[in-house]
Amino acid sequence: MATAAPVRTDRYADDPRWALISPDPYPLLIGGSLRQAADGATFNAVSPRDDRAIARIALAGPTDVAAAVRGARDAADGDWGRTTGRQRAKLLEQIATVIETHADELAFLEAVDAGKPIASVHYSDISISLDALRFFAGRAQAIAGRAATMPDSSVIHHEYLEPLGVVAEILPWNGPLWTGVQRMAAILAAGNAAIMKPAQMASLSFMRLAQLLAELDMPPGTISVVAGPGPVVGEALVGDPGVDMISFTGGVEAGTRILELAASQVKRVSLELGGKNPNIVCDDANLDGAVFWSKLGAFGNTGQICVCGSRILVQRGVYDEFVERLSAEGAAMRVGDPLDDDTELGPVISSGHASKVWEYIGVGKGEGRLVTGGERYADAERSISTFIPPTVFADVSPECRIMREEIFGPVVALQPFDTLPEALQIANDTSYGLASGLFTSNLDRAAYLSRGLKAGQVYVNQWFSPGVLEAPSHGYKQSGFGGVGMEKYMQAKNVFTRIGEPS
Ligand code: NDP
Repeated sequence: MATAAPVRTDRYADDPRWALISPDPYPLLIGGSLRQAADGATFNAVSPRDDRAIARIALAGPTDVAAAVRGARDAADGDWGRTTGRQRAKLLEQIATVIETHADELAFLEAVDAGKPIASVHYSDISISLDALRFFAGRAQAIAGRAATMPDSSVIHHEYLEPLGVVAEILPWNGPLWTGVQRMAAILAAGNAAIMKPAQMASLSFMRLAQLLAELDMPPGTISVVAGPGPVVGEALVGDPGVDMISFTGGVEAGTRILELAASQVKRVSLELGGKNPNIVCDDANLDGAVFWSKLGAFGNTGQICVCGSRILVQRGVYDEFVERLSAEGAAMRVGDPLDDDTELGPVISSGHASKVWEYIGVGKGEGRLVTGGERYADAERSISTFIPPTVFADVSPECRIMREEIFGPVVALQPFDTLPEALQIANDTSYGLASGLFTSNLDRAAYLSRGLKAGQVYVNQWFSPGVLEAPSHGYKQSGFGGVGMEKYMQAKNVFTRIGEPS
């Protein structure tokens, strides 16, 4: 049994918000009740801002997973599975109210545990979570099948969209609260029972949410939350025949493992994986806009977003100016304590992940021209490895590792191009195809490039999609597959009814 050492938060006594963190291990939510792991095991939530343990969390094992699946199965096959869309919408509205009421606490936990700047957690993660709950509350009440005209006029067709049953959602660490809430909202709206597995590196906000959810009036097992390592908890969920679908967001390696395991049961899987997303800046682009959005695209959430624009292709006529301006903007970004309201970029998720990013920076120094960043901070507050400055490498050729491999940190690689076909060829020369972007003031160029780019999302003269709910997508190639939005959690059933002549 792994048991984490008790956590001392008294060292932060000067900030009253630390008192929000429970001294007791955050429990699992199984079968409608909060409980510690069957064997009493716990693990520490470690803050990337100082690499210290800040809370303990119950560490689920196979026994806990089996109990969670049984509880979810009962809910899906019982009362929750029989709810109407209106009833499900009501639950989603209640969850939204709970999150709104506890927004300050959840934002604090997300900031200290995942290293996300607290101001951005409020205006981004919390609001996306609320938007998702209310959006899917609406969708739950408007589920529609279709009716096709049959070749035999004596037969009437109609299609039902039904819940799958039990859906296990394996969450990433780069946006634990909003990704978790958004996916949970869609799973529930579709009428499924949800088993949520947050990533160990960033579980705290979701474990606190689990405590709040346990107080809501819903059939036991409607929502379960089990934290613990992917190879144990995640794989137990994949292997349990009581789980009808696995939905996963994370890296290619874990995604591949899940596919292999799920294959033996022909279990439904959806994968949202990574990207090495190209950003094409043409010589006729509005450079102010291109620099602004490219900075956000490359460095947003410290580069830890699957749709970050981590390689930028710039047409030769504006290449030098763009490199200079993007580097200056990157260097001016405020990197610091996620609890500071002025911080724009926090630390990366963990010292382990930081090692990987620093290794890539070392590789980049041999592959391209370092223009800004690339060195550890000298001041005391940011001396630990998780604080990484926005780093720009110019003159990187397409075959270089930093141009091809997903770094998932604040590191961007640039190279010049001459013609649009050349830009497209380089942009599409990747095993990924999640997102892409382009900047031009010429409509013909925008159409040519956006049609040619092999990516699920194409941003034109901006970066990031404002409508992930309204216009969901997944990527090409190794960026994943398995459906989008609420429909991916549903099963279509076609009913064919023969009608006779009236007697
Ligand atoms: P992982 O892919 O390992 O982790 C994502 C989730 O999967 C976590 O909840 C993890 O659990 C779980 N998991 C890990 N292994 C298994 C398994 N064998 N079976 C079931 N679940 C599993 O992410 P990493 O932290 O390793 O990151 C690797 C890379 O993935 C990143 O560098 C980045 O390139 C990419 N990534 C992409 C994301 C995206 O949004 N598309 C998000 C995060 C990462 P636990 O961590 O608790 O062990």
